[in-house]
Amino acid sequence: MPSGENQRSYDPDYDFRFEESLANNEYPAAKMAAARAAEHTTLAAEVCTPELWEKLKDKHSSGPAKWTLARAINTGVMYPESFVGCHAGDRESYDDFAEFFYPVIEKYHKGFSMAQGSDLQGTPAERMDASRIGVDLTGSAQDKIISTRIRVARNLAMFPLNPGGTRESREAIADLMERVYATFPAESDLAGNFYRHTTMSDAQRQSLIDDHFLFRGGDRMQAASGYHDHWPHGRGVFLNHAKTFVNWVNEGDHLRIISMQKGGDVKAVFSRLSQAAKGIEDGVRAISGADEVFMMHPKFGAVTCCPSNIGTGMRGSVHILVPKLIAEVGFDKINAMCRERNCQARGSTGEHSEVIDRIDVSNWRRIGLPEYKLVEDMINCVNYLAEQEDAL
Ligand code: ADP
Ligand code: MG
Repeated sequence: MPSGENQRSYDPDYDFRFEESLANNEYPAAKMAAARAAEHTTLAAEVCTPELWEKLKDKHSSGPAKWTLARAINTGVMYPESFVGCHAGDRESYDDFAEFFYPVIEKYHKGFSMAQGSDLQGTPAERMDASRIGVDLTGSAQDKIISTRIRVARNLAMFPLNPGGTRESREAIADLMERVYATFPAESDLAGNFYRHTTMSDAQRQSLIDDHFLFRGGDRMQAASGYHDHWPHGRGVFLNHAKTFVNWVNEGDHLRIISMQKGGDVKAVFSRLSQAAKGIEDGVRAISGADEVFMMHPKFGAVTCCPSNIGTGMRGSVHILVPKLIAEVGFDKINAMCRERNCQARGSTGEHSEVIDRIDVSNWRRIGLPEYKLVEDMINCVNYLAEQEDAL
């Protein structure tokens, strides 16, 4: 082990493990029936009926992961409380198991039809062009925003998705990204440092934790999908010098590309994200020689491990101070207001976190619309919430 290597967070408990029936490629009938009888059924159990299981159980995806239905649904069987409960192991999984994945996609992304596909209209640069955002923050909305963060999930076309990956594929991705980050010109907004989980110093680790930039292992649901295997190898966090452009490497998807800053300059954050995504795409193309950099599907766009993130893979959020509204109507009602506007509310320290005076407002839709339109959804919703707050 090289000096500085820090393996403290490795725990074999988080390596992939099959649920017992699935390990024998048998349908977990009792568990699936119980899941279907529950009020909130994981989509994996809802869609994978005994009939569908019989039909697809011996099939393997045609991609590098040789994915199976047993592997795909393992998370949902072990954790029926998970909302989606299934994962793809490679791009081919989605079409090779279309009878399973297409209904899951349509149930999650309500209103989206796999038969129709998405009409994304234009190149990635056009869809992520900040000047096309046709609405502005109005009234007091700007002053109420504490910070803005927009991220996209992306996977590299030349590797299997992480649930179907190996230690070698994860390390090859991190090695490639390390070279890509080195191509950013030193004076550019994107230039910065890449910290790998295996080699970062304790001081670097602490600083990343303090700034909330580090992702950490130890999530059982992630483990059940195979995301977590070979932890911490191939994992890393890239940060530009201004700490406004962040990449997560091999957390779940190969890449989470994140643009963030204090305040409510949504267009600046979106514009940086667009440049960053292009910088990464160009860098990967230059170093790998690959024509196709990001894994794309002709029907829905960006391919991600979890069907919930496919499409744009984008979540654009602001943290907004609405203390009176929170006290008056509560989080659930605010979330309902957001959902009526194609958005959602979260606590400000991540999904399912506690709400005190501020909430995280972001686009709900991820698919079927260009990215700038999803940013418009978020801005419109924030304007509405700011008006509601001021009316109290
Ligand atoms: P994701 O959809 O990217 O997985 P999460 O809800 O899991 O988002 O949040 C990831 C992290 O990003 C959390 O630490 C959260 O506090 C932070 N975050 C999300 N939105 C913002 C924002 N607008 N400003 C600052 N931090 C944010
Ligand atoms: Mg998250």
